Amino acid sequence: MGILANRLSDFFLPPLCAGCGSQISGHENLCATCWQDIDFISRPFCDVLGIPLPFDPGGRTVSAAAMAHEPTYDRARAVARYSGTIRQLIHALKYSDRQTGWRLYGRWMKSAAGDLLAETDFLIPIPLNRRRLWSRRFNQAALLADALSVETGLRTEPLALVRNRPTRSQVGLSPAQRRRNVSGAFSLAKRKRSSVKGANILLVDDVITTGATAEACARKLKKEGALRVDIIALAMVTDQDLTTI
Ligand SMILES: [Zn+2]
Repeated sequence: MGILANRLSDFFLPPLCAGCGSQISGHENLCATCWQDIDFISRPFCDVLGIPLPFDPGGRTVSAAAMAHEPTYDRARAVARYSGTIRQLIHALKYSDRQTGWRLYGRWMKSAAGDLLAETDFLIPIPLNRRRLWSRRFNQAALLADALSVETGLRTEPLALVRNRPTRSQVGLSPAQRRRNVSGAFSLAKRKRSSVKGANILLVDDVITTGATAEACARKLKKEGALRVDIIALAMVTDQDLTTI
């Protein structure tokens, strides 16, 4: 049935590459050129921040950036660097209705999250604030969490966190300014309090830029009694100097 449905849809709608829109033959959603333009993050990477490291020092690897500023979340992972094809795909998720590739993104995130999944009780997508949700009509992080849920069987709690206001970049802020920037940015839905207490939570987002948003969510969830808060994203900005964050 599935194969027949795919063939029928091929007949009417030839599959298009989610990256560049060119016609492709398979169902992997990307053409060969776009695949090659993805900078997948693989080991060695920092066990805390998930950023790629130039060499493998052996054992548990924690970057200097993570030691200089220990984040409020426990571990971050991302499928790829925020560049090339991934950047285009994420842009398409946010600003157009071109919503293909969810299965692929789900499989990618499952692979990138790796060991974290066995220690996860449930997923929480990073919420958009209401005004942005209204203008975009959907939250791409919630759709990515659904895609990861399909691949892993982990349940997702899309309404657990509520965003009260946007957080701005933490770069260049003093520790006191950082705390002010993220404090009160998120709240927890009252009826989700009991499920968060003692839980190991995996946050889901499309891109980790400075980590400020993940930190704000983790701070709130831990205040409410969460044991561990990790984050998985489709992409991560790694080019900037992370030691200043
Ligand atoms: Zn392409």
